[in-house]
Amino acid sequence: MSIKNTPITVARGDGIGPEIMDATLRILEVAGARLDINEIEIGEKLYEKGIMNGISDESWDTLRDTKVFLKAPIFTPMGGGFKSLNVTVRKTLGLYANVRPSVAYHPFIDTNFPNMDLVVVRENEEDLYAGIEYSQVDGAVQSIKMITRAGSERICRYAFEYAKANGRKKVTCMVKDNIMKMADGLFYEVFQEIAAEYPEIENERYIVDIGMARVAANPNEFDIIVTENLYGDIVSDIAAEVTGSVGLGISANIGETCAMFEAMHGTAPDIAGQGIANPSGLLLGSIMMLTHIGQGDVAEKVHNAWLKTIEDGIHTGDIYKEGVSKERVGTDDFTKAVIERMGQKPEQLPARSYPKGEGGLVLPPLKERAAVSKELIGADVFVEWREADRASGADALADIARKALVDGIDLSIISNRGTKVWPDGGAETFCAPMWRLRYKAKSGSLSSTQITKLLDNLYSVGLPFVKVEKLYEFENGKPGFTKAQGE
Ligand code: NAD
Repeated sequence: MSIKNTPITVARGDGIGPEIMDATLRILEVAGARLDINEIEIGEKLYEKGIMNGISDESWDTLRDTKVFLKAPIFTPMGGGFKSLNVTVRKTLGLYANVRPSVAYHPFIDTNFPNMDLVVVRENEEDLYAGIEYSQVDGAVQSIKMITRAGSERICRYAFEYAKANGRKKVTCMVKDNIMKMADGLFYEVFQEIAAEYPEIENERYIVDIGMARVAANPNEFDIIVTENLYGDIVSDIAAEVTGSVGLGISANIGETCAMFEAMHGTAPDIAGQGIANPSGLLLGSIMMLTHIGQGDVAEKVHNAWLKTIEDGIHTGDIYKEGVSKERVGTDDFTKAVIERMGQKPEQLPARSYPKGEGGLVLPPLKERAAVSKELIGADVFVEWREADRASGADALADIARKALVDGIDLSIISNRGTKVWPDGGAETFCAPMWRLRYKAKSGSLSSTQITKLLDNLYSVGLPFVKVEKLYEFENGKPGFTKAQGE
C-alpha cells in the first residue's frame, strides 16, 4: 500500500531564499519526504506589483488548503504603507505559537556554551505586536499592549505540552509584572495556573531583563522559555546568537489548523546569488515541519545526515572556523555533502530520533470560565492642553476640569505620561500636552449617562476629550486599571 503524500506550500522568497530552498528541497527529496509541493510567489515581486501585503488571494487559498507552509525569507519593504508579510501570515492563519530552538553544536561550531539546548516558545499574535497605536495629540503616541487570558493560556499550555512531548524538564516564564502589573501580571497568573497541571515539569519565573541577561551569560540554565511576543523576539535572537550562529536559527509558527516553518535569518542581500549561503536554518525548519506532519522517520534521517556533515567539518563560510572546520564549501557542495551522508548518524554529537506517525501537538480546549461581572466606577478622560509643561501648572487644568463635574462624580487625580501631577504636582515633573483626568464615583457605581454628561460638560468648558477609558472594578475585587505613579 502506498503512503499518501502530504500537501505543503512552498515559497522560495527573496535574496538567498531561492538558493537555500532549492538546497532544502533537494535534500528532502533524497531523504524520501512524502510531499506534494505547491509553490506560491510572495514578497518582493508582489510588492513591486503594488500588492501591499506581499501575497495574492490565490496564495491564501493554497495556504488554507495545504495548512503547512515552508517559507524562505522574504524582503520586507520599509515604510510606504507596506505590511510585514511575516506578521500578516502569522496573524491571519492564527499561528499563535512561535517555537525557536537554539542548540550548540560544540565542538564543531564555535560557542562559549557547549551544552546549550534551549527552546523559546514565543506568543505570536498579541502584545505590542498587535500594532494598535494611536496619536490623538501631535507629538504623543500610544502603543497598546494587548494581552488576553486566552492568548496567554494557549501559549503557556503549548510550552508545557511541548516540554512533555519532547522530554524537557523545566519551563521558565519571562515577564515584567513588577512594572506591567496588569498585562504581564495576567500572563504570569495564567502561566502559574497552567504550570500547576504539569507537576512533573519544573517551572520558574524571571523578570525579563535579568532573565535575558542570564540567557546571554549562562544559557545552560534554561530548558524552555515561554514569554510574550516582544520579549520572545528579543530573547530568541539572543539565544540564537550565543549558540554561535544566527544562521542556524529556526522559527516554527504553529496554529490550531495551520503551521509555517522557516529559518530565523533574513534574505542576506549581501551574499545573495553568490552560492555561499548556509541552507541549514531552513533545512532544520523543514525537519520541524516533517515531525509536525508525522514524517518523523524522514526528519530523523535528514537531521542525522546534517549533524554528520557538521561533525565532519564541512561548513559554509558563516560557520567556518580555522582549526575546527575541515572544508569551506558553498551551498551546493554543502547540500551534496548532506545528501552523501543520508542514512548515516553522527558519532560525537547526539543522534536524533523522532516519533513516527501522527505529528503536531493537540492541545485541550481553553478552560471554561464563569463570566465575571463588573461595576463602572469612573473614567479616565484624556485631553489636549498646552497651557503648562510642568506638573506645578496642573492646578489651572484642575480648575477647568472641575467645572465640568456632574453629580456623583469627583476629579480624583490628574496624571501626565503615567505620573500623578495633581494634586501636589512637582515643579520638576515635565508634562506632555496630553493629560489624563481621572474622574471617579463619589460612592458606588456610575451610569454611562453620567459619563456622557461629563464629556459634554468638558466640551462646554473648553476641554474637548481626545480619548476616554472607562474605569471598572471587577466582581473578583480586581481593579480594571492601574494607579498612576505617585497616586
Ligand atoms: P539577515 O539575516 O538577512 O542578514 C544578517 C547577516 O547574516 C548578513 O551578513 C547575512 O549575510 C548573514 N546571513 C543571514 N543568513 C545567512 C545564511 N543562511 N548563510 C550565511 N549568512 C547568512 O538580516 P538583515 O540583513 O537584517 O535583513 C535582510 C532582509 O531580510 C530585510 O529585508 C529583512 O526585512 C528581511 N528579513 C526577513 C525575515 C523573514 O522573512 N523571516 C527575517 C528577518 C529579516
